Amino acid sequence: MRGPQPRPELHSLAAHAAGRAGGAPTAELKHLLAANENPYDPLPGVLDAAVAAAGQFNRYPDIGCERLIDALAHRFDLPPARFAAGAGSVSVIQSLVQAMTAPGDEVIHAWRSFEAYPIITKAVCGATAVGVPLTDDGHHDLTAMADRITERTRLIFICTPNNPTGTTVRRDELAEFLGRVPENVLVVLDEAYAEFVRDEDTPDGITLCREYANVAVVRTFSKAYGLAGLRIGYAVAPESVAAALRMTAPYGVSQIGQEAAIASLAAEREVMHRVDAVITERRRMEDVLAEQGWPVTRSQANFVWLPIGDRGGDFAAACGRAGIAVRVLGTDGVRVTVGSPEANDLFLATAAEARLG
Ligand SMILES: *Cc1c(COP(=O)(O)O)cnc(C)c1O
Repeated sequence: MRGPQPRPELHSLAAHAAGRAGGAPTAELKHLLAANENPYDPLPGVLDAAVAAAGQFNRYPDIGCERLIDALAHRFDLPPARFAAGAGSVSVIQSLVQAMTAPGDEVIHAWRSFEAYPIITKAVCGATAVGVPLTDDGHHDLTAMADRITERTRLIFICTPNNPTGTTVRRDELAEFLGRVPENVLVVLDEAYAEFVRDEDTPDGITLCREYANVAVVRTFSKAYGLAGLRIGYAVAPESVAAALRMTAPYGVSQIGQEAAIASLAAEREVMHRVDAVITERRRMEDVLAEQGWPVTRSQANFVWLPIGDRGGDFAAACGRAGIAVRVLGTDGVRVTVGSPEANDLFLATAAEARLG
């Protein structure tokens, strides 16, 4: 006997994840531009709220995240019953797949896109992931995605802006797509980077949640709000779905996380100041990379995308030697988070050299 065996799907995925992490040890890398984190230290008021909450961590957190959900409901002018919070939006995404699918059901998502979609769908939930290739210029191919809908389809993820290509879906094409989706299929817009969008033709998911009975949005405090380490994200969903999400992962969000998120919403103006600074840096990085001759695409998120195919490994190794961590994604390219101006300068200098070398 070999002892207890996890489901075989998990083996193949673990091997895959380890293969992706290759490269220099993270401890030696000074500039972490691989995980789309916020480069700024916590805002003082937010840190104070978290530290105050830490003094009570012998207590369980509020299981319903009620004050946070009230604050979100007020911010977006929707009923609290349409919200559910979780331990990062990855956890909310997992709850969505668990709530909506059984083995054999299908989940459609673009590829390349956020790596959690196929992992959660296949390994965690035992459902079938249907990855639909992006267009050549890194956009969701919504026509092809609608063509893949079957009676087994339960859920469709649309990542906008898309991680890692930084592209967004357009208002018209999304309306046309939603017109083709049956009403029993839930369309989830993953808007982890919504705050970084400056393109006018990109639809706002929360507006769509008001208009369509089968649209949900997932957002996070990890990126623009800089709370990645505290693990807090949320969904705006049809009430029945939001109620199911609240049942799947009880006590998922610590009170420290809840208080920090509430304080962050109250500090939205300062948060958005920082977001503006990141966007200024994003544009500068893209301009300089284009001048250097890289095939850069314009991003609406807090990262830039270099579709350099199988040259990604060498490029990342050059960055690693300069003390910069970047993210290689298969043989598609390299994703580089917009960091502090100093980190970005060093990255751009490294990219210039790599281009010549
Ligand atoms: C970073 C990211 C998330 C969320 O991360 P959490 O820290 O779990 O909230 C979700 N979706 C996409 C596309 C992301 O890039």
